[in-house]
Amino acid sequence: QTPHPKYKRVMLKISGEALMGDQGYGLHPPTVQRIAQEVKSVHDLGVEICMVIGGGNIFRGLQGSAQGMERTTADYMGMLATVMNALAMQSALEEQGVFTRVISAIRMDEVAEPYIRRRAVRHLEKKRVCVFAGGTGNPYFTTDTAAALRANEMNCEAILMGKNGVDGIYDKDPRTNSDAKRYDAVTYDEVLQKNLKVMDASAIALARDNSLPIIVFSLDEPGGFRGILAGDGTYTKVHG
Ligand code: UDP
Repeated sequence: QTPHPKYKRVMLKISGEALMGDQGYGLHPPTVQRIAQEVKSVHDLGVEICMVIGGGNIFRGLQGSAQGMERTTADYMGMLATVMNALAMQSALEEQGVFTRVISAIRMDEVAEPYIRRRAVRHLEKKRVCVFAGGTGNPYFTTDTAAALRANEMNCEAILMGKNGVDGIYDKDPRTNSDAKRYDAVTYDEVLQKNLKVMDASAIALARDNSLPIIVFSLDEPGGFRGILAGDGTYTKVHG
């Protein structure tokens, strides 16, 4: 029996590092396939899915600029990295029969669709997974902000932040503190004031201003993503 999904349209944000497995760099195809399966299991519930994947497994602008590269150039390289990750995800999803569109904030018509809001909405209505690549298309931003921006534009009901190694937001780092406590729910302002590591501050502010809930959960748990939509599982909800 198929559970009634909690949300009809969601944004799934994962970091680029989620795709690298244990390799420490780049793309690990079996890991990409595993995440694609998780996405498919939610797609099977009839949920409309937007995705933003970071680029940190390939290139980070800050890292490049620390090594002497011009910051904006390095940021564009980071944005290009997200396109590679998006294409890898598209390939894995379509392998499983889930129609997927890669939509880039930076035009590159041979590999991805340009971002046209109404067109993207139409894809969602037709149950195609939309992977938004190229971040916001602007340097000095992050893919967290891109996820919050597109989630608002696409009228998503929630941003689901799939994390590796943690299943929510804790008062201190649970990997180094055995007495760390997980919050069931926190407010946007608490996240900002206590500087809790969820998304960067501009992404949180964007979600707050539009009352878009953020759900932080673990990507490591098989069925974790589906669990959130089915109304159970472990997570922290950030809300107003
Ligand atoms: N980036 C950018 N503008 C954006 C999104 C991303 O300049 O709107 C660049 C930035 O250099 C960033 C890199 O792309 O370091 C990869 O994105 P991010 O660090 O957010 O990836 P994640 O940490 O989620 O893997």
